[in-house]
Amino acid sequence: MEKNWAGNVIYRATAFHYPRSLAELRHMTAKAGRARALGTRHAFNELADTGGELVCLARMPRLVEVDSEARQVKVGGGMRYAEFTEDLDAKGFALPNLASLPHISVAGATATATHGSGSGNGSLSTSVAGLEIVTADGDVVALRRGDEDFDGAVVNLGVLGIVSSLTLDLVPAFEVSQSVHEGLPLDSDILAVLDGAYSVSLFTDWSGDTINQVWVKHRTGDLEFVPDGTTRADGPRHPVPGMATRNCTRQLGVPGRSADRLPHFRPEFTPSAGDELQTEFMVARDDAVAALRAVDEIRERVHPVLQISEIRAVAADRLWLSPYYERDTVCIHFTWIADAAAVMPVVDLVGERLAQFSARPHWAKVFTTTPEVLRSRYTRLQDFADLASRLDPAGKFTNELTQRLLSPT
Ligand SMILES: Cc1cc2nc3c(=O)[nH]c(=O)nc-3n(C[C@H](O)[C@H](O)[C@H](O)COP(=O)(O)OP(=O)(O)OC[C@H]3O[C@@H](n4cnc5c(N)ncnc54)[C@H](O)[C@@H]3O)c2cc1C
Repeated sequence: MEKNWAGNVIYRATAFHYPRSLAELRHMTAKAGRARALGTRHAFNELADTGGELVCLARMPRLVEVDSEARQVKVGGGMRYAEFTEDLDAKGFALPNLASLPHISVAGATATATHGSGSGNGSLSTSVAGLEIVTADGDVVALRRGDEDFDGAVVNLGVLGIVSSLTLDLVPAFEVSQSVHEGLPLDSDILAVLDGAYSVSLFTDWSGDTINQVWVKHRTGDLEFVPDGTTRADGPRHPVPGMATRNCTRQLGVPGRSADRLPHFRPEFTPSAGDELQTEFMVARDDAVAALRAVDEIRERVHPVLQISEIRAVAADRLWLSPYYERDTVCIHFTWIADAAAVMPVVDLVGERLAQFSARPHWAKVFTTTPEVLRSRYTRLQDFADLASRLDPAGKFTNELTQRLLSPT
């Protein structure tokens, strides 16, 4: 049985294809009846699944082409971030930001608007400057930033076809140092803390009057930020109490290349045993304090089924299906225990409490928000549905989840 990373989704696909060339990928895609792309399987819901055939790019030839003049890199869609950050470093470049783990594929991460943290940083999808998509009949459609369909095509939930390559914007290589501070009073100015450094993550289990940990990631040379009322951790920390810290990237203020500090987890280790479910809701920055209070009010329900919550900031963008579409955002994330029966009623409750803030759920995590409500919060969903039916009129790349989302009310 083929499963996702967390083991909570058993793929129903009738076949798994691992093309080894673009020609093979195009041929397999054209031949398949229903098909979907499978990345590194980190989504926690049925988003990547299909009753048809799954196409995974993990065995495609390695593609990493740095264009120093344009400050861009073209990478294969199936490549994991950890597989090319050293190539960038060697040329004096870096990606502006990374997610908590570098194990995920570029096409899979950007298809779901995966994000890191930093009030001034967009999601990983905002680094995409171009993409090539193998469409239903095996043709390759290339889109670049500025093209009419581009803003609709980047966060695509795998619905437009198989993304075979992406061009990503780069910045000059930079170093980051990371330190962990403990015991942030819950009534602190949370937005000021999130704004305090290049990337800041708050971790809490909602059990007391403090946020357990604040992970502060500075660009070296930036003024050091120490959140008021906290104590500097005296050794390495894992966000989840009791978990091995060797999985985590270097802390204690030791500078290193950005790709070794911006993710929380090191590529050579699996971040955890996979015994978890995840949910994340995105609210407008201006609503963040009230939204956090609303979660705190139900802490007796949240805490018993929770491993840890993470709070991060992401800058607004113009990508149609992005949870950060036209709003500076604070993301409230929950790593739950791996017990769906106990967790799902709480996911429902959190969703209910955050409804007043028009919270947008993370596409690749567990949520119970109905398609009707999603359409009211993702205001460009109909435009995306129109784009999907132009590029894939027969709906080859849809599945039950995306069909429910994309069909008109
Ligand atoms: C431990 C853990 C930590 C995480 N941390 C973060 C985090 O810090 N921030 C965050 O935002 N999210 C996070 N996530 C969620 C994760 O980033 C998303 O699930 C992401 O989509 C995973 O990418 P993947 O390659 O595993 O995609 P998959 O799970 O394989 O697929 C996800 C979607 O992408 C599509 N897709 C994959 N490849 C292609 C392709 N070549 N062409 C077209 N579509 C494609 C699939 O069809 C599917 O719709 C985390 C998940 C885990 C398990």
